[in-house]
Amino acid sequence: MKIDLRSDTVTKPTKAMLEAMMQAEVGDDVFKEDSTVNILENRLATMFGKTDALFFPSGTMANQTAIKLHTNPGDQVICDKYAHIYNYESGGASFNSGVSCKLIDGHRGMFTAKQVKEAINPDAFYYSKTSLVEIENTTNKGGGACWDFEEIKKIKQVCIEHDLGFHLDGARIWNALVEKPETPKDYGAVFNTISVCLSKGLGCPVGSVLIGDGPIMKNAIRIRKIFGGNMRQVGYLAAAGLYALDNHIELLKEDHKKAKAIGEALKKLAFIKSVETIETNIVIFELNDDVNETRFIEELVKNNIHIISMGGGKLRMVTHLDYTNNMHEVLLKTIENITIK
Ligand SMILES: *Cc1c(COP(=O)(O)O)cnc(C)c1O
Repeated sequence: MKIDLRSDTVTKPTKAMLEAMMQAEVGDDVFKEDSTVNILENRLATMFGKTDALFFPSGTMANQTAIKLHTNPGDQVICDKYAHIYNYESGGASFNSGVSCKLIDGHRGMFTAKQVKEAINPDAFYYSKTSLVEIENTTNKGGGACWDFEEIKKIKQVCIEHDLGFHLDGARIWNALVEKPETPKDYGAVFNTISVCLSKGLGCPVGSVLIGDGPIMKNAIRIRKIFGGNMRQVGYLAAAGLYALDNHIELLKEDHKKAKAIGEALKKLAFIKSVETIETNIVIFELNDDVNETRFIEELVKNNIHIISMGGGKLRMVTHLDYTNNMHEVLLKTIENITIK
């Protein structure tokens, strides 16, 4: 039995999800004739209180499209130093949109309205024009941390005062939604654009959706085409998304419980330096300085347990739909007994 905790993207569609996919009504989505895609897009737009939504093959493409919609070449985007758009999208912000990032030195991928204010460039010709603020909820490199919604609202105020777009990378917004009192409409009221992933915690094989209001989203379909993301009978994938929205959101709570239990087990090990506070499905921890990281990972692999290194001495485990109760028991027992020679 392989226990794969490298990411929540490793899940495979369940039988019921596959059946929903097989039964999907499809059409050519480039002609907007795929009824299942149309249903998914309408459902997510409505859910977040927006007028428009567009299906994408990846979260990266949805984020990159959002950046393009909000900026002109030469502009600057404010984001955290841990941001996915800065670290893990292959330099796409500069490649696709010709923008630079002003990085905020935040805490676990999150920052304050005050820091945003300080990061905005003065209105002088020799500065690049600040045009967008981007945040991530939950934060990936920040260990699945959830933002304080009050701070998000304060940042929105700063965006309004300075005429800046506000984009949410909501790859794991579903994890925040099940942990916090805010609703999707609360997020929709604050952000101009929101990208959500169906292929992480929700367990779909493929799919992200960009959500926003008419004026800003008007050009999204053209940008998606430019990026090569137009698709044809893609309702089969949208059907997986609809199935996941109906059946998998509540299950995220189980992932969170398991992640917390893993954190507790790790804390008891003498050779572990620290475990970051676990709010959702991501566990980030560090080994003592004298413990060889590669040796530790290899020891886990011997037990058929797979995790990843985030660099800088940080290791990551992510719980997900395919991480079963049985695997959880085996994992906890293995951790309890693990020794590093
Ligand atoms: C996974 C992820 C994305 C999108 O990644 P894709 O692999 O392109 O779907 C975007 N933002 C964050 C924070 C992510 O974790």
